[in-house]
Amino acid sequence: MSRLPGRNFFFQPGPTNIPDSVLAAMHRPSVDFNSPGFRTLQGNCHDRLKDIFRTRQHLVVHIANGHGAWESAMANTCAPGDHVLVPETGFFSTYWAKLCTAIGLDVETVPGDWQDGIDLERLAETLRQDQDGRLKAVCVVQNETSTGVTNDIAAVRAALDAAGHKALLLVDTISSLGSIDFRMDEWGVDVAVGGSQKGLMLPVGLSFTCVSERAMKSRRNGLIPHHYWSWEEYAPQQNRFIFPGTAPTQIFEAMAAALDIIEAEGFDNVLARHHRLASATRAAVTAWSANGGPQFFARRQDHRSNSVTAIQMPAGHDAEAFRNACANEGNLSLGGGLGPLNGKVFRIGHLGDLNEAMLFGALGVIEMQLRRQNIPHGPGGLQAAVEFLTHS
Ligand code: PLP
Repeated sequence: MSRLPGRNFFFQPGPTNIPDSVLAAMHRPSVDFNSPGFRTLQGNCHDRLKDIFRTRQHLVVHIANGHGAWESAMANTCAPGDHVLVPETGFFSTYWAKLCTAIGLDVETVPGDWQDGIDLERLAETLRQDQDGRLKAVCVVQNETSTGVTNDIAAVRAALDAAGHKALLLVDTISSLGSIDFRMDEWGVDVAVGGSQKGLMLPVGLSFTCVSERAMKSRRNGLIPHHYWSWEEYAPQQNRFIFPGTAPTQIFEAMAAALDIIEAEGFDNVLARHHRLASATRAAVTAWSANGGPQFFARRQDHRSNSVTAIQMPAGHDAEAFRNACANEGNLSLGGGLGPLNGKVFRIGHLGDLNEAMLFGALGVIEMQLRRQNIPHGPGGLQAAVEFLTHS
């Protein structure tokens, strides 16, 4: 395909835009990964990352994508045949459940139709009924990237506590870390998994697994066989900085640069910026949704995500054709629908290194394509976003 002029406007919900200073930071020669200089850089990155997870407990960094962190979380907490509960929220919870089954766990679910978050009532009932503590872990996706629904992790913790249930609480923060509030220690999360390529504005390649004292201590004989993923290989009392193998020095240089950007803006300001840009996006979608236009996939307003908005096309209009036209004619890259949502939904990823001007560009191209393709919609989406940001 020939090059389109100007910058590509990248609004995927991961990977995300990588700031120039982060790209430049990777442009460094290799260094001795056992040298004191690199160990210090790596140790500082670990400490700063823990601030993003809002934890003072353990952090294990794997050279892996999010799938690796899922597997690490399960292998270090569960034995073959253990029962785990994975409430169904969308493509990613379903995939996590599949991974659990594949490595020998017995998966139970709290069914859901993907348009709402976790059914907290049914979750509470399931936990209450599990009097003998059959369920060893509850695995929850904080932000369902496939649907644009954010789940209330504090409410899941409260459901566990109200039932007096001792299952470990495992949370996927892959598309919420650095863009949506997450509080590992305050919310009593036992294992939180994250990835480098979303809110942290890094390339894919590292996954992060934060582990509570309780989860670390609960390691027992007979866990699902693993070695590469073993937290003990990294445990602080041994040497928290040693990877089982060569450390990826350039990506740590990049992480230090990305954390510099986040800290300079102020982490709370970063979260507030995500909320503002997401709210402006929602103002646009609300306007378009009139006249039989595209609708929010996430049914409940208070569940709508600050990192991604999933938008359902009107019947008879193919979301993939729409998305391809945005890419090929507008140089705008949007996310597609995943699994059963393919062709029905497109997604605006509004997380990471983004500003108002970029968002206006994306919303303008979407609005133009709605017109150009004669897709029914209400007018004034872009104007509604401008209006919102003017007054907020
Ligand atoms: N969980 C969520 C919520 C995700 O959004 C993704 C990827 O987009 C994953 C898990 C899987 O992560 P990865 O693609 O890095 O393996």
